[in-house]
Amino acid sequence: MARKPLGRKFTFSRLLYRQALGLMPGGVNSPVRAFKAVGGRPIFIKEARGSKLYDVDGNAYIDYVLSWGPLILGHAHPRVVRALQEAVQRGTSYGAPTALEVRLARLVLEAYPSMAKVRMVNSGTEATMSAIRLARAFTGRDRVVKFEGCYHGHADSMLVRAGSGAATFGVPDSPGVPRSVARDTITLPFNDQEALKRVLKKQWRQIACVIVEPVAGNMGCVLPRGGFLKTLRSLTKRYGVVLIFDEVMTGFRVAYGGAQERYGIRPDLTCLGKVIGGGLPVGAYGGRAELMSLVAPEGPVYQAGTLSGNPLAMTAGIETLRQLRRKGTYEALQERARALEEGLRDAARRARVPVRLYRAGTMFCMYFTEEEVVDFATAKRADAKRFARFFHGMLQRGVNLAPSQFEAGFLSLAHTKWDIQKTVSAAYDVLRTL
Ligand SMILES: *Cc1c(COP(=O)(O)O)cnc(C)c1O
Repeated sequence: MARKPLGRKFTFSRLLYRQALGLMPGGVNSPVRAFKAVGGRPIFIKEARGSKLYDVDGNAYIDYVLSWGPLILGHAHPRVVRALQEAVQRGTSYGAPTALEVRLARLVLEAYPSMAKVRMVNSGTEATMSAIRLARAFTGRDRVVKFEGCYHGHADSMLVRAGSGAATFGVPDSPGVPRSVARDTITLPFNDQEALKRVLKKQWRQIACVIVEPVAGNMGCVLPRGGFLKTLRSLTKRYGVVLIFDEVMTGFRVAYGGAQERYGIRPDLTCLGKVIGGGLPVGAYGGRAELMSLVAPEGPVYQAGTLSGNPLAMTAGIETLRQLRRKGTYEALQERARALEEGLRDAARRARVPVRLYRAGTMFCMYFTEEEVVDFATAKRADAKRFARFFHGMLQRGVNLAPSQFEAGFLSLAHTKWDIQKTVSAAYDVLRTL
């Protein structure tokens, strides 16, 4: 990457943003991209390769956003690109079953023994929405329990104290969500098993499911405390409540078998997305045979999709998982992630800036706070203004972080030792000025 001096120019990004503002709400197609949480104006991207992102003004960045998680192999991985080029010539969608769907389903089920069957959809939002419908059908109950700061996509019932963009904007309860829907969503603090115990004891007859991000990645990166996930499992089992692990972010990321492999828990249903699409739009949900046999056309629970199981998306997913299955992949990822974590920690210490850094596999977050971050309340007390200054300083030095304190950062196989060194040294330079 060229060592550009500070004071990068963003002429074309500015121009495009001005046009975009007149054409799309906020100039973007997904809210956090608009930089509202950090101020300033978004950069427009022209292309990306490996660990690098290139904007329309010719600036290069080491990218820790990776399209918000999917690109664990890095951008435009040659094997994925080649597989897609070959696939696209055979047509882009058939609306009929393919061998590709069989192959990806098999890869997913092999990695997630808790899933007897899987259904492909087009986004993480669709996956969680469908999983919740299924849990309601299975139990004949309406209420769902979620945790504050966990984001499960933007379905109505989940836009209650959600993290991510919703957290960033401080409007966790979006207008337009019917009160009648929000009423059936119970939110509890993450890592608070006592609260769950109380709610289940009193209301279990109404509760269909408990949905959780086993490592919470939409309020930064909040790790489950020892025993939290185990207690979720045993309590839900006791009351006949469906346990849904939303592994859209953590799946194939914190381990090949996701958080359920890492922490040794078997949920009833699992939601996937991001990595399994290799950068194309995909989601999936699956779980115990008893539950999945209720999904149409095997059972009465309706769920469908014009582009579900799309051949291009399946191709990118299959090729991505194939690369991930190679020996030593997760060890290599782990090693790089540890180097970055230690480097950043050390930079903050040398710069005398109090931070809390958390990491699970290749997802991480550095909070500007002295306090342990265990839930949404503690995450929100981190200094977002300081983060914004850090973010812009890093951007000026060619490092692209997610434009909010409440987002996880990601590493890919394409990040080199040199990328990490450069990131750490940029971080030290910026931290010193905060
Ligand atoms: C990203 C994400 C979703 C939503 O996925 P989309 O593809 O953006 O709809 C749901 N749950 C979690 C945990 C996520 O990180």
